[in-house]
Amino acid sequence: MGAKMRKAGWFCRAFIVKSEAIRTHKRPKANGSDMKQKTCKVCDREFLPVRQMQSVCSPVCASKLVRKARKTDQEEKKATRKADKAKKESLKSLGELRKEAQAQFNRFIRFRDQIAGHGCICCGRPLNWNSGKPGGDVDAGHYLSRGASIELAFDERNVNAQAKSCNRPGGTTRAQFRDGMIDRYGVDVVDELEGPHELTQLRHDDLRAIRDKYRKMANDLSKSIEKTN
Ligand SMILES: [Zn+2]
Ligand SMILES: [Zn+2]
Repeated sequence: MGAKMRKAGWFCRAFIVKSEAIRTHKRPKANGSDMKQKTCKVCDREFLPVRQMQSVCSPVCASKLVRKARKTDQEEKKATRKADKAKKESLKSLGELRKEAQAQFNRFIRFRDQIAGHGCICCGRPLNWNSGKPGGDVDAGHYLSRGASIELAFDERNVNAQAKSCNRPGGTTRAQFRDGMIDRYGVDVVDELEGPHELTQLRHDDLRAIRDKYRKMANDLSKSIEKTN
């Protein structure tokens, strides 16, 4: 064997050894001996991972990570629902808002008069507050109708608890209703209600404010009724 051949053999062996070293270095060992230290995503402690993709130090931190992800998901869904609700609210028509505001206002009127122990505004008969019927036996009756006096739709004096049977055509007479109103509020108030009014144009946000105000007041009264029962 010449000197040239010996030299070439040495070179080949050296190459094989070197490439083997590169290969084994790149391949992670199962025991993690050549893994680098990482910082746990949950507890911030340094740890030696066993697997390449491991981002937490322990099963405890792993389950915490899952809970956190679940919570974030729930929060995102909640934020989406809130945004959807806000969008829906912004698209409501004047008519829809008026209906919602009137419903809350009427709830408030019924609770107010129940707590006061009032009978029907027009005939004075006791009211059946808990009939259990859908819609109940008690209405929030407008003295001056919404059709005739829209500006009085949300006047607390103009609207009073009334027997459902009275609050329909033929249920009561105008004179009876008027007498009932005078008994409760006095003739001056009744005259004022019957007199001329400035017409205020309620806009979307006005109706929202009325709705939210009376919803809160009705809820508060409802709670106080529950407490006394
Ligand atoms: Zn950890
Ligand atoms: Zn009546």
